[in-house]
Amino acid sequence: MEAATDLAATRNIWWFKAKPRLKLAGQAIGSEVIADDQRSRYRQGDEKVIACLASPKVTNSLQIGPIRLNGNLRLLDMDVGLAMRNRRDPSRTSVRAAAISATEILVQRAAFDLDIAPEEFDALAPNIMTSPGRPSLPYIQISDALPNGSGFCRHLLGDSRIPVSDLLASVLDDAAQWPRNTVSDEHHMNVCGSSCYKCLQRYNNRNFHGLLDWRLGLSYLRAFVDPNYECGFDGKYEDFEISDWSSNAHRLAKETRTFIPGNRISCVDGRADIPTFSLDDRHSRWGAVVHPLWDQKRLFAKLGLDNTFVAVDSFELSRRPLHVLQRARHAAR
Ligand SMILES: [Zn+2]
Repeated sequence: MEAATDLAATRNIWWFKAKPRLKLAGQAIGSEVIADDQRSRYRQGDEKVIACLASPKVTNSLQIGPIRLNGNLRLLDMDVGLAMRNRRDPSRTSVRAAAISATEILVQRAAFDLDIAPEEFDALAPNIMTSPGRPSLPYIQISDALPNGSGFCRHLLGDSRIPVSDLLASVLDDAAQWPRNTVSDEHHMNVCGSSCYKCLQRYNNRNFHGLLDWRLGLSYLRAFVDPNYECGFDGKYEDFEISDWSSNAHRLAKETRTFIPGNRISCVDGRADIPTFSLDDRHSRWGAVVHPLWDQKRLFAKLGLDNTFVAVDSFELSRRPLHVLQRARHAAR
């Protein structure tokens, strides 16, 4: 943003012979507005201002997090953006997407059970709690949409009618309840690679449609609830949400042929569930398709993969293949 000067003020004060300039004290104008300003209404200030717009709201909120984490999963590798004052790292988008999907699942299921619209809740940004002397832990959070609280978050507290712990247990393991009863439909499993209007998407969460993924959201919630959950890291895919991960990963690996003509498709020695593909036609550098929540360093150490391999997570490979392949090639140099 730029410090603001409005030159059009001269039109309003036309009787002045010397054109006055109206400096708007303590205000700023977006740089894009100045760039688009064809008629030169605004003058660029000398000083750049970096600012966020926010307004406070008093309401009830609910934060949910694990007590202990499984070290084989990278739940802490979450891109929390501005809150951490770190630059966005594209390789961490998938973990953020998992947390946002988990929040969305929670909002929709809680709304369903309370018989209210999902819009009664605000799905807040997932974050990481850091406190001195304690290990960092991720958490997801929702709040009542109405100022001063509508009481819906209170209905999810531990001593209420629908405690959130029971809700999560049902979300993860009750095949007869939403979301399992909807997403497990065979046709839906085949056509919905991430999310659609039959499962997590709704008009009001359209800003997040590109990030929503029901499989990833369920994995994230299960990792919250159960620190022994390996999410397929150990080669076992019994849990519902990862049951078709490996076949999808193999399909994604095959599809890289479109972008790298003549490349070879294979799999990691002793782990037929993890497909690999060569990053060029010399077949000297390889990409290994990994689950977005796996800790890639630990996985490579466990499998004995050297630096001729680069981890490419399946979320990125399905959403932005060109981008992630370019990064993988760069990393493999
Ligand atoms: Zn769907």
